[in-house]
Formats: sequence, structure tokens, C-alpha cells
Amino acid sequence: MSPERYQRIRDVLEKRQTDLTVCLENVHKPHNVSAIVRTCDAVGIHRVHTVWEKKYQFRRGTAMGSQQWVRQTNHDGINDAMAELKGQGMQVLVTHLSDTAVDFRDVDYTKPTAILFGQEKYGATDEAKALADQDIVIPMMGMVQSLNVSVAAALVLYEAQRQRTIAGMYNTQQLPEEECQALAFQNGYP
Ligand code: SAM
Repeated sequence: MSPERYQRIRDVLEKRQTDLTVCLENVHKPHNVSAIVRTCDAVGIHRVHTVWEKKYQFRRGTAMGSQQWVRQTNHDGINDAMAELKGQGMQVLVTHLSDTAVDFRDVDYTKPTAILFGQEKYGATDEAKALADQDIVIPMMGMVQSLNVSVAAALVLYEAQRQRTIAGMYNTQQLPEEECQALAFQNGYP
């Protein structure tokens, strides 16, 4: 690997936000998963969480295929995913068009945060909504009721990136140095 390539990878890894993540619940269309993971990479997310219930499990190991720069943890069910995220001290926000939802721009994303996005047609499951700490919504002023899930993810994640940039959170390395070095030498994530 050239020194320039190594430095480029290091620069990216040093900005990775280990306390910001997304959880994709039954988001199963490959182009959506791919677009969301690409946005995750762009805002510095290190790991994404996925939950695919039985009928979508054909996505395991395929939808993430080309995304070598963002790590993935797949969970057997939404309860496991929520338990792990909350166990890491994350506030879990579910993107959901409800009366109790707050505008996504009124949330503090400098806190350890996991943002859950739901299935393309049906949205987040009732279990996810019940377990989450807060519903968030992207205000809609038009005739259609919702955005494409990857568009919704981009909007929310870029608000998180904006807030974290202002707070200087990209200036402090969050990934442990050992992991950073190992990943840089692998020239990509396994
Ligand atoms: N009928 C579904 C519902 O009520 O949730 C719509 C699902 S929407 C097409 C798919 C996913 O995109 C949602 O689960 C959510 O993650 C995200 N999404 C789309 N538009 C949104 C909005 N305006 N506010 C928040 N999340 C949105």
C-alpha cells in the first residue's frame, strides 16, 4: 500500500463515530441498503446494525456485499438489537410518522445515538416503536406521506453530521488505536 493510501485510510478511520449508528429493520431492497450504507460511510459511521425477520433473511450476506468500509452487525431480532444498542448507552430514535414524533432537527445527535429505519412499505415494527426512546419525523408538506427510506436516512444522518461537526466530534479519534492500525493495514474492512 502506498503511504498516500495508508494516510487516506487513517484520515477516514480517525473520524469514525463509534457512538453513532443506524439500525435497519427489515430494510431489504438492495439499492436502499446500499445507498444507506454509503451515506453511513460518508458521515463517518463505523458500524451499522441490521435486523431481518425470516422472510427477508435472504438479504443476509448479500445486501452489504460491496460495503467494505462500514462494518455490520446482524441481529436475530429487534429485541436483541435494541438490547445491544441500549446496553452501549445509546439513545434509540425510531424514524416514524406519528403524532408523538419530534422534528428530526430538534434532537441532540451529539449524544450516543442509534437511528432506526423501517421496512420500505410498512415502516418500523410495533416492537421497535415501543422499545425506542423517541420517534422522530421528517416533516412532510406535500401529497405523498413518506420519503424513500434511503432519502430519509440521508437527511437525518447529515443533520447528525452537522451537529457533530459543530461540536468538534470529528477532531477526536474514537476508534481504539489498535483497531485503527489493524484496519488501515487491511486496506479495508473484512
Ligand atoms: N407507511 C410507512 C410508515 O408509516 O412508516 C412508510 C414507510 S417509509 C416509506 C420507509 C421508512 O422510511 C420509514 O420506516 C422511515 O424509516 C423512513 N421515512 C420515510 N419518510 C419519513 C419521514 N417523513 N419521517 C421519518 N422517517 C421517514
